[in-house]
Amino acid sequence: MPLQEIKHPAIDIDLRYATPDNVTGQTIYHHAIAFLHKDALAALARAAELAVAQGFRLRVFDAYRPSAAQWRLWGALPNPMFVADPRIGSMHTRGVAVDLTLSQADGTPLDMGTAFDEMTSQSCHGRTDISLPAQHNRRLLLGVMTAAGWAHHPHEWWHYNLPDPTRYPPLSDEVEGEALLK
Ligand SMILES: [Zn+2]
Repeated sequence: MPLQEIKHPAIDIDLRYATPDNVTGQTIYHHAIAFLHKDALAALARAAELAVAQGFRLRVFDAYRPSAAQWRLWGALPNPMFVADPRIGSMHTRGVAVDLTLSQADGTPLDMGTAFDEMTSQSCHGRTDISLPAQHNRRLLLGVMTAAGWAHHPHEWWHYNLPDPTRYPPLSDEVEGEALLK
């Protein structure tokens, strides 16, 4: 079974697609359970250790996304600028992508300049038109994640995936997908 649940003392689970508080305004998942491919889970645990060493925690907004959920997202927002076309597939359906932020030891998320899933150019890496603390916080997350072996996404400060994600097949029919969507 390639997918495993994210359970780590320094990782908070805050699945936005299990609430209407996401870009579609709709509840996509019926359960707030986060899964990753076991290779990605090991890399996320390394990132959590690095975050803890600096006094932070990780907060996960999305992880494995069943293809049925990708279709629901697409149905709610059929625009390839914002949502991966489910016929092409998302790195999240392979179980090797995670959307996350850093938070303080008490769980308070750090200011990253824009909200998770905010589809504006200010969500891109390398922006200087957000506050200096937010620029600093994004680079903290970038450093923790890349040191742990993750690749960043230039347009989304919250998105990381394992390098060469197409090495991993889409996992549309896994039982974990059923657990999220039923
Ligand atoms: Zn993502």
